[in-house]
Amino acid sequence: MTTPYIGRFAPSPTGPLHAGSLVAALASWLDARTHAGRWLVRIEDVDTPRCVPGADRVILTQLVACGLCPDEPPLYQSTRAALYQRALADLLAAGRAYPCACSRRDIEHALAAAGIERPRHAELVYPGTCRNGLKGRRPRAWRFLTENFEEKIPVAHTGSSLSAMPLIVDPRVTWCDRRLGAQQQDVTREVGDFVLKRADGLWAYQLAVVVDDAAQSITHVVRGADLADNTARQILLQRALQLPTPAYLHTPLVRGADGDKLSKQNGAQALDTARAADAFRALAAAAAVLGLPPHPGPVADALAAWVPAWRHLYNPDSS
Ligand code: GLU
Repeated sequence: MTTPYIGRFAPSPTGPLHAGSLVAALASWLDARTHAGRWLVRIEDVDTPRCVPGADRVILTQLVACGLCPDEPPLYQSTRAALYQRALADLLAAGRAYPCACSRRDIEHALAAAGIERPRHAELVYPGTCRNGLKGRRPRAWRFLTENFEEKIPVAHTGSSLSAMPLIVDPRVTWCDRRLGAQQQDVTREVGDFVLKRADGLWAYQLAVVVDDAAQSITHVVRGADLADNTARQILLQRALQLPTPAYLHTPLVRGADGDKLSKQNGAQALDTARAADAFRALAAAAAVLGLPPHPGPVADALAAWVPAWRHLYNPDSS
């Protein structure tokens, strides 16, 4: 028996939907419908300083105006701290997480001392300073230990003659995106031991998303390509927590006038979906980004036409 399909759209309530987030919403909805599956909405409101009060309601209203109705009441991450805490405790107990006392300045100094230059604006790769203990310093954040030392030594315990052979451990996480194809990332080298709980006490996106995707039995993640880079970290966390890995599909992005991913900084407009004609126009623009054929509307008819078109484009084997 195949696992029933459960998909999700997981907006951060930092403002109303914009053209980019509607693409992810439409794509995840179409993929769920194509698979006769369920489509859930999860409000990712853990980064409270970035959340805008009331934006969750606005987003849900906009989704309904676009014909995208969740199959269950939305889940709010702000209500789920106990689950995240338990996951962190499990990782600590398994030796896969550790407290970190480093400020951003400390990390910059450690990288400079090691002669590691970093391009302006690039993320800091954590050099692992606190892996071997805090040395009397106060813990600020909790980090995931990206290298699994256990995995490196199993043959040594077996007494098998294999133990004499050098153990080759490939540090790269490889995975297959349904649109982008084969992907790989060496998380230790390219990202470093990443944060699970932040110095301000807030849960990090990576931990919350992995815990909730598993708790909601999500089988398929469909989201914007700007998030593809997080997938390897999420797969490492799933493995460490012994959780299943969903299938991933990262959609094309809407580009701003500067060619970058559309964001509030480069002109993403909040979508106006108050009138049916505006909602349809927004939805049709999102469909065009996904390569779906034009449709005269209205919303319900267009969605019905785009389900088989989506299947043809993104699930050619199943049609
Ligand atoms: N909350 C994230 C965002 O709005 C999306 C998370 C996800 O789909 O995994 O960018």
